[in-house]
Amino acid sequence: PKVLVGGGTGFVGGVLCQSLRQKGYSVTVISRSEGASRLTWDELKAQGLPENTKAVVNLAGQNILATFTFWTESFQRLVRDSRIQTSLAIAEAIQKSPKHKRPDVFVQITGVGYYQFGTTEAQDEYTPGVNKDFFARLVADWEAAAKLPSDCDDVRQVYIRSGVVLGRQGGMVQQLFWPFFFGVGGRTGSGDQVFPWIHVKDLVGVIEHCIENPKVKGVLNGVAPEVITNLDFAQAFAGALNRPCFFPTPGFLMKMVFGSERASMILGSMKVVPTRTIETGYVFKYGTIREAAKEFSVVSHSG
Ligand code: NDP
Repeated sequence: PKVLVGGGTGFVGGVLCQSLRQKGYSVTVISRSEGASRLTWDELKAQGLPENTKAVVNLAGQNILATFTFWTESFQRLVRDSRIQTSLAIAEAIQKSPKHKRPDVFVQITGVGYYQFGTTEAQDEYTPGVNKDFFARLVADWEAAAKLPSDCDDVRQVYIRSGVVLGRQGGMVQQLFWPFFFGVGGRTGSGDQVFPWIHVKDLVGVIEHCIENPKVKGVLNGVAPEVITNLDFAQAFAGALNRPCFFPTPGFLMKMVFGSERASMILGSMKVVPTRTIETGYVFKYGTIREAAKEFSVVSHSG
């Protein structure tokens, strides 16, 4: 069976494509650049979906916390457009393909930025969204762009709202690995903020669960069941490396580097749980931050 992965060249995509290939899937990546087993976004628009596509997953999007980027209007536009335009392109390609040739499932990754900050109650997939900031509006518009019209109801649609993805190969852990390795890691801001997280192998596991289980559809939260604070994360990371956890990164510095709206992704407290993900039968491999940190703190597969 063939799976098409938009943004499959990235951090999550690398782990997903490797896992799918190991399971015997044939994987084609949709990318901005040409290459073996790749399709460009222009080719997708011109040619439509490749024959026999069983599933489409979209992971494309400009990295929001990329270093040396300023939170300007033009960067915000890039963050939005890279997500919305790619989602629209896939939705259109699915819509245009003849009914009997459509994929079984379209999985769109979005983010927990949809939810509110500072709630004492945990928020799950049944919690309505609020128009609180750039990220909440982004997720609402991103999911709307991916939405297929009603005459495509033969295609299962899943939206996975992901928390911060933790894995050695990319994202936050890769940015923090060397400070923690050299013993100068620590909490960010007060450290009390609830930190929605998921191990990259579980995010990949949830995506595969969506591909392989014909009953899964709708919104799933891509967050681990264990609710932790930013300090819990820092202590687990430092602990797995046998290092101290003394050196906080002050909130004002995060705001200076990233701008306050973007810094809120790390400094804000957001309590999110994966109620539907568990209800649909997904069993987490890394349910606790201690188990996850043991895996992503291994020094030998550096990179
Ligand atoms: P990456 O930053 O690794 O990027 C994924 C891919 O997106 C890239 O490999 C690139 O593919 C494509 N891309 C980048 N910029 C653009 C652009 N301007 N226009 C079109 N495509 C672009 O992402 P991750 O793997 O970390 O995340 C995957 C998805 O999950 C993203 O949509 C992200 O928003 C979401 N997410 C990630 C979280 C995390 O902590 N990592 C947390 C919550 C959600 P190419 O160069 O081949 O075109």
